[in-house]
Amino acid sequence: MNGLMMQQPLLISSLLTHAERHHGEQQIVSRRVEGDVHRYTFRDMAARARRLAKAVARLGVSDGGRVATLAWNGYRHMELYYAVSGSGAVLHTLNPRLHADQMAWIAQHARDEILFFDIGFLPLVEAIAPRLAGLKACVAMTAREHMPQSTALPGLLCFEELVEAEDDAYEWPVFDENTASSLCYTSGTTGNPKGVLYSHRSTVLHTYASALPDSLNLSSRDTVLPVVPMFHVNAWGLPYAASMVGAKLVFPGPALDGASLHELIERQGVTVSAGVPTVWQGLLAHVENHGLNFASMRRTIIGGSACPPAMMRAFQDRHDVQVIHAWGMTELSPVGTVCALKGSQRALTASRRNAIQAKQGRAVFGVDMKIVGDDGAELRWDGQASGELMVRGPWIVAQYLGGEGGDPLADGWFPTGDVATIDADGFMQITDRSKDVIKSGGEWIGSIDLENIAMAHPQVAIAACVAVPHPRWDERPLIVAVRKPGATLTREELLRFFDGKIARWWTPDDVVFVDAIPLGATGKVLKNKLRDAFKEHRLPDTEARHGRA
Ligand code: ADP
Repeated sequence: MNGLMMQQPLLISSLLTHAERHHGEQQIVSRRVEGDVHRYTFRDMAARARRLAKAVARLGVSDGGRVATLAWNGYRHMELYYAVSGSGAVLHTLNPRLHADQMAWIAQHARDEILFFDIGFLPLVEAIAPRLAGLKACVAMTAREHMPQSTALPGLLCFEELVEAEDDAYEWPVFDENTASSLCYTSGTTGNPKGVLYSHRSTVLHTYASALPDSLNLSSRDTVLPVVPMFHVNAWGLPYAASMVGAKLVFPGPALDGASLHELIERQGVTVSAGVPTVWQGLLAHVENHGLNFASMRRTIIGGSACPPAMMRAFQDRHDVQVIHAWGMTELSPVGTVCALKGSQRALTASRRNAIQAKQGRAVFGVDMKIVGDDGAELRWDGQASGELMVRGPWIVAQYLGGEGGDPLADGWFPTGDVATIDADGFMQITDRSKDVIKSGGEWIGSIDLENIAMAHPQVAIAACVAVPHPRWDERPLIVAVRKPGATLTREELLRFFDGKIARWWTPDDVVFVDAIPLGATGKVLKNKLRDAFKEHRLPDTEARHGRA
């Protein structure tokens, strides 16, 4: 027997109509590409999104057609999030940090029909647009007075002109909640990038779950600064969650340096921000070098790669900003686990609490997880056994766009490629990505642990740990580090810093100091590049010192 409740599809447009009706006066503040700060309300945004939906239809986007964006975080991008998906088309957020060839490959694979872009990306668009067979129009996301001239793009359109040409009398269409809403490509560090095609249903369910108190803990009393780009897994869903809860939104535009972020946080009274560790490094350095503090910011959501405990302590102990450590993937929309202490853990000593907070956290409701060994058998949740992390749930990929890569699932579970432990309280900790694991003498060494120790050294700005081939042990760990400005740290001093913190045989065999570490398009260390760069590196003989003789 069926229940007798209303059948209402879960649609992205309903997030916007809710925000307009219940939080119409709430503000959206954006630092613009043009250089100034723009502010308006959710009510204004909703009206412009309706006009934009009409404009997108007028440009001839097919039903379910892909509309690409190449843009920083800002209100026009937010309007596109709702106008495109809400009207039944698919929003495809391109990552402008990719190489032009890869971007063209992705846009062609997605069959993008329209390309909206921030004016700073004009040269990129000029390079890729002529290579896209199905592209019907390019739109510069600016007003007439800032329109760039381009001979390479003869029919270039102006965003504000498109919006002004329409009125806001538009009803959001109602359709099946399983309809595709948006598209993100995985970074393709192995093989070609693969498209993850979200649905309205998966997005709305993910939004509910990610806003919960033990998840990202968002409410109408918050002012949210998504530093994570809107082209990086939909800014972790924050443009949707802010509408659901009625939080004030602050968009940083392209200015992601420490000084610009700190000024925006203080001026706008930001209470919660979100981003990858590399971005926070710049912010913390700026704050500490200038003796500044955070007057309003109470929480920061850190994910995308492991948050080094040293960074966590800097935020929490020195600046009274609580770190919310989270783990996710493009394939998970992206939120999978969030590290919120349980009530019983609040009374633990600071060092025990810190150890828990270094973990990536507990599964949010909707995500089911397990770890498995090489034979596929499930491993114990004892915080010790480590194996591949598998997940399943209603906002987790079932298949990549175009069936690329075959069936990604194993027995209904999505293998994440991450190696993790899970403790008895259900806290998951990533020890490595399976392709980054260091295999030494038949055992695994977790590179994240070693990086965290190196980055806890006060003279280290950033460090990465990679495997170097070794004649006897197959692979041994090498630390590649960048010193803080003015630091005099030596190789020997950094190696000694590991003493007593890990099993001796885990101690890195060598340290190399470099000027910069290569970062990928989403701000993560490119380990494959580092491995390549150092594959011929000759390690010193450390057998006796590390107790492996
Ligand atoms: P890519 O890094 O390939 O662009 P995603 O942005 O989807 O893809 O990143 C997903 C991966 O990022 C995860 O599989 C995991 O390896 C890593 N990751 C995400 N959050 C964390 C975290 N908090 N700690 C450690 N690793 C993380």
